[in-house]
Amino acid sequence: QTSCVILGQSLTLSFFIWTLRTCTSCYQSSEDPGAFAVATNGEPFPWYHLRLPNSVIPLHYDLFVHPNLTSLDFVASEMIEILVRDTTQFIILHCKDLEIMNATLQSEEDLRDKKPGKKLHVLSYPAHEQIALLVPEKLMADLRYYVAIDFQGKLANGFEGFYKSTYRTLHGETRIIAVTDFQPTQARMAFPCFDEPLFKANFSIKIRRESRHIALSNMPKVKTIELQGGLLEDHFATTVKMSTYLVAYIVCDFNSVSGTTSSGVKVSIYASPDKWNQMHYALQASLKLLDFYEKYFDINYPLPKLDLVAIPDFGPGAMENWGLITYRETSLLFDPRTSSVSDKMWITKVIAHELAHQWFGNLVTMEWWNDIWLNEGFANYMELISVNATYPELQFDDYFFDVCYAVITRDSLNSSRPISKPAETPTQIQEMFDAVSYNKGACILNMLKDFLGEEKFQEGIIHYLKKFSYRNAKNDDLWGSLSNVSPMWNYSRLLSLKSCRIITKIKEMMTTWTLQKGIPLVVVKQDGCSLSIQQERFLEGVFKEDPEWRALFLWHIPLTYSTSSSNTIHRHILKSKTDTLDLAEKTTWVKFNVDSNGYYLVHYEGHGWDQLITQLNQNHTLLRPKDRIGLIHDAFQLVSAGRMTLDKALNLTRYLQHETSSPILLKGLSYLELLYHMMDRRNISDVSENLKRYLLWYFKQMIDTQSWSDEGSAWDRMLRSVLLRLACELGHAPCIQKATELFSQWMESSGKLNIPTDVLKIVYSVGAQTTAGWNYLLEQYELSVSSAEKNKILYALSTSRHQEKLVKLIELGMEGKVIKTQDLAALIHAIARNPKGQQLVWNFVRANWTDLLKKFDLGSFAMRTIISSTTSFFSSKDELQEVKQFFESLSAQGSHLDIFQIVLETITKNIKWLEKNLPTLRTWLLREDTRLLQYMYLHF
Ligand SMILES: [Zn+2]
Repeated sequence: QTSCVILGQSLTLSFFIWTLRTCTSCYQSSEDPGAFAVATNGEPFPWYHLRLPNSVIPLHYDLFVHPNLTSLDFVASEMIEILVRDTTQFIILHCKDLEIMNATLQSEEDLRDKKPGKKLHVLSYPAHEQIALLVPEKLMADLRYYVAIDFQGKLANGFEGFYKSTYRTLHGETRIIAVTDFQPTQARMAFPCFDEPLFKANFSIKIRRESRHIALSNMPKVKTIELQGGLLEDHFATTVKMSTYLVAYIVCDFNSVSGTTSSGVKVSIYASPDKWNQMHYALQASLKLLDFYEKYFDINYPLPKLDLVAIPDFGPGAMENWGLITYRETSLLFDPRTSSVSDKMWITKVIAHELAHQWFGNLVTMEWWNDIWLNEGFANYMELISVNATYPELQFDDYFFDVCYAVITRDSLNSSRPISKPAETPTQIQEMFDAVSYNKGACILNMLKDFLGEEKFQEGIIHYLKKFSYRNAKNDDLWGSLSNVSPMWNYSRLLSLKSCRIITKIKEMMTTWTLQKGIPLVVVKQDGCSLSIQQERFLEGVFKEDPEWRALFLWHIPLTYSTSSSNTIHRHILKSKTDTLDLAEKTTWVKFNVDSNGYYLVHYEGHGWDQLITQLNQNHTLLRPKDRIGLIHDAFQLVSAGRMTLDKALNLTRYLQHETSSPILLKGLSYLELLYHMMDRRNISDVSENLKRYLLWYFKQMIDTQSWSDEGSAWDRMLRSVLLRLACELGHAPCIQKATELFSQWMESSGKLNIPTDVLKIVYSVGAQTTAGWNYLLEQYELSVSSAEKNKILYALSTSRHQEKLVKLIELGMEGKVIKTQDLAALIHAIARNPKGQQLVWNFVRANWTDLLKKFDLGSFAMRTIISSTTSFFSSKDELQEVKQFFESLSAQGSHLDIFQIVLETITKNIKWLEKNLPTLRTWLLREDTRLLQYMYLHF
């Protein structure tokens, strides 16, 4: 299944087993000099490492591809110009699932004299996805050679390599397109190549197609040749020097809209023909963002064109192929009729992310996948800078909190990993694409920017991008560039140092964040005008009194703080375990981590928290909005770590009644809702009923004043969506009545009525609770050409309380026709969220593991979502045991993922949380109930 079959050579069973055995030992220790490999035909394979040798490097690929969208296969050929660095007798290339027909070699002289190529002996080693080309005579160092390979393959079924995607027209016709997706290690599925990011080369691509199709690739088309029989052949301009994972080509029948940036780059949005009216927002956004990046990086986008294409079947959210970015439809297409403000936020964010990659990732690439954060952390961080500048009305600052908060949950588990971590096998490499690379990477960059100052940070990254253009870089290169600039603010200790010392200081500081896992907790104690501060590793679910609690870690933390007596931002770098700071004047409270820019949590010992809570209740506006969000977040995290009692965190949220900032209200609400779901899932009904009543009472005024419309600022609209969804989920009668009314009108209008987009999902979800409504929604799901709408319908369908309906959804998801396979992981996630569906999907995943693995790679984001979404909400010892057993059985079959440990630790954390906090929650709610009764007595 993973082999490059060489024509005329057959694979016998004994060799296959032999190869597998060899592969296992190589995977465990690829550097073992005693290791050896055997090719599929039984001959010795001359290379036993997972990484390619450096003796030969590629300079240029001439690639010809002819896909047949009827027979679903392709024939292809390539000519790779190589430079030999060290004399060698073989060339090793990556290759997977391709059939090699012929391979020849020419020297420069041969090529000049038009001498035919010498036939090469090809060996295949599927375990490492490699082939060896054995040359008759040694290749000499410093000479160039030309390797020509003819090969063929099938269009893949999944989402990797050169694969098939289908879409349905408004008239119900199914059409096929062929598209590539190569990151991280799948270019080898489309053409034999040096498939490692360090082997950058130029690519000249030719694609043969039928006249009803168009072909797209990284570069603009330079000419089209008409062939006999009506076929056409497009020739694309040669690319700039780039890594193989960024190569892309598509054969499709899509339409486009285009515009030009101020520097003359042609930007086009492509989608299937019925989606013309959904492409305009993406065009406007990408033009604005490309203009912004060119100015910000002070480097022009180097290609003449940029295409953004919405692919009907796509694995990740999007992929940054140079000049030909591919997206899921939901990440690119904005439908004015059905896309909500959250959809707009998401689309803007993904476009900003992929455009940032054209510099971070494409122009400058990490040397190896262990530093993928240099691509992903930066692209995630640049979203913040670019969207703030181009769409200030989206207040993206407030969105960025969740980028950091999402990873803190993971990073505060023992099973977290450092940002830079060795990764060798394709599964390990895929696992690197996670919250630690993306989110933590972005958050520590944000902290560094706050430390250096905006301008110096920008100067540093411009220096980095210019210095390493068309090359590869590693962590130290980045720290070197950022150290060439000195901090903006007058930090006396740093400024007194010689410049070379500053370089080591930045590197010294940042490696404490990239090379060690986890997040620090800063414990502050105020004693008159003196502050004692201390750092330790923050661990959730492991309490200080537990034997496994250890304070092993030490960070260089750029602390910031302000006090009740002045708004000045004070700075201090905490490098040691403990330190003491003197306050200039007497203050009632101190707040650390100003504007929540730092990647650390803060605990205030003694009366610290009480003073802050009192301040919030008396006049919360004396604390900055971003500090108020930070306090709510840290308080609930401290509860999980056993450092704060739950009633104190809940008391803190009481001030929210006076809060007017929508992002802060959303944060507070999310913690309360989380508690409700935890109780509801566990059927702790006395507590969940009281919580429900508390939530509806507490937010009643806010809920009742919401209009069912799309009016207001971005965050007011998002708050409305969440408040009304929660109200309907909790059975608030006026909410259900209004949603039912709108749903009936929508059904009566045969789905033509325009419902405000921000409440669409709520209306559908309420409608899905009756059988007639559910069936009608499923029909509309099939007909809709708006992915934004389909997403909302699918969510609504998954909220049904009827098991047989949920089973039907899973069946449709597995079948992959009505519900696409690309949406299966999200569907399972949604059903797992439904208390009536959680056990169902958990049983399903266990029973269908092998079938799921046929659809998605083990290390893929989809598989990881399926595993974590069906297990990580468990909170009992029996459930923990069940999950443990399942993971053990998988590991015994050879499937191991880092996420297993993360899930087990999360469940253990949930169990401990309940044991410790359930009695407190129960008592607190009863006390609130009494307050509520008193309130009602006084007011009615
Ligand atoms: Zn990315």
